[in-house]
Amino acid sequence: MDITKIPYKIYLEENEVPTKWYNVRADMKVKPAPLLNPGTGQPLTIEDMNPIFCEELNKQELDNDTRWFDIPEEVQNFYRMFRPSPLVHAEFLEKALDTPAKIFYKFEGNNTSGSHKLNSAVAQAYYAKAQGLKGVTTETGAGQWGTALSMATQFFGIDCKVYMVKCSYEQKPFRREVIRTYGAEIIPSPSMTTEVGKKINAEHPGTTGSLGCAISEAVEVAVKSEGYRYVLGSVLNQVLLHQTIIGLEAQAALKKYNIKPDILIGCTGGGSNLGGFASPFIGEMLRGEANYKIIGAEPASCPSFTRGKYAYDFCDTGMICPLAKMYTVGSQFIPSANHAGGLRFHGMSPILSELYHQGVFEARAYEQTQVFEAAEIFAKAEGILPAPESSHAIRAAIDEALKCKETGEEKVIVFNLSGTGYFDLYAYSQFNDGTMTDVIPSDSVIEEALSKLPKVPGME
Ligand SMILES: *Cc1c(COP(=O)(O)O)cnc(C)c1O
Repeated sequence: MDITKIPYKIYLEENEVPTKWYNVRADMKVKPAPLLNPGTGQPLTIEDMNPIFCEELNKQELDNDTRWFDIPEEVQNFYRMFRPSPLVHAEFLEKALDTPAKIFYKFEGNNTSGSHKLNSAVAQAYYAKAQGLKGVTTETGAGQWGTALSMATQFFGIDCKVYMVKCSYEQKPFRREVIRTYGAEIIPSPSMTTEVGKKINAEHPGTTGSLGCAISEAVEVAVKSEGYRYVLGSVLNQVLLHQTIIGLEAQAALKKYNIKPDILIGCTGGGSNLGGFASPFIGEMLRGEANYKIIGAEPASCPSFTRGKYAYDFCDTGMICPLAKMYTVGSQFIPSANHAGGLRFHGMSPILSELYHQGVFEARAYEQTQVFEAAEIFAKAEGILPAPESSHAIRAAIDEALKCKETGEEKVIVFNLSGTGYFDLYAYSQFNDGTMTDVIPSDSVIEEALSKLPKVPGME
């Protein structure tokens, strides 16, 4: 690598853009554990899944063997509106940190939804339309997924109902308006429009909601409405598959300039951006072709990897969804409302969970004030106002670059900048006012939530 020959932004030409998604499960010797039917405790079959999710997506979900999936032409066409995304050489950040490390970031915030979520939203809306469905339902936490899905569903001409976690709905009124502009219906969760919403409201009066509650509501509506299915923006194998467009583009851009990464970093909510970004590199590791240090960065207030348990759990608070074996702090765990930094989901992608369990990558938990300090350093140096979620990855990247400053090592650090923070100004205002606090759950809170893990035969 000759650093002087590397442009500030590396773009791929149209003929260099990947046309297939990569399924890392094909290269895993031990596959992720199957989803279980919560009624029977048996592995979920495609017949169990078809009433809830789209058929083609179910095939992708269950396929542990097919290494490459063609990206449908209609999806490739939509991708052209905002892809390929640039791989940026963070020269200004390197200078600000005075580090010998070489830092690159893949920027996924160059679209109206402001994050990588559009990569999977487009695919899911396409398959729903191809199946002849009327519409889809979903949940959204911070709002990026709801926005991405509303953009994708209107493009393919199908309906979209979004259950948005109540505290985000209230904190982010403008996010709501973007979703409405694209024609989706948006309902704060827990609501009184579903049985599960009514039950959660009765049991936890005044609750500001959680992703888990919103998922339960969206699933209930999909199952009860003719011609509707439920779609999910993270966690599932299919979502990681679609998100590999990030890692495949990054890999192609790095190869183009003969850049060999040492460290790869992504933030982890449900695992889709890290999974999508890192999968192609993890594939190289699993095939024995390369070795990388891979780091998942999560919030200390919802520490699924670093303090959770690898066990079967519900994906939702209402306990109606399939069971997934994953690192979890428990489906009954609700992160503190003080936590404004995103990544609030209690569980983690089964693929990443199995890889983490095998020791393929490591995880770190950060408090939100340290995360916003990193966001500020990055915004001032590189100009982009980062999403709080992405800023967890920035924190880890900065820490690694500062270690290089001590040791004098010129490591190559590549991180995924999963999105922008223009709708997170409430959180930024707390940070700027000095009123942001770090709420770290006590051991007893986590133990209490973990004590409610479902009892499943064969569960560890
Ligand atoms: C949703 C989101 C995340 C977290 O979700 P993953 O599935 O873990 O990627 C991270 N960054 C941004 C900007 C997001 O919108």
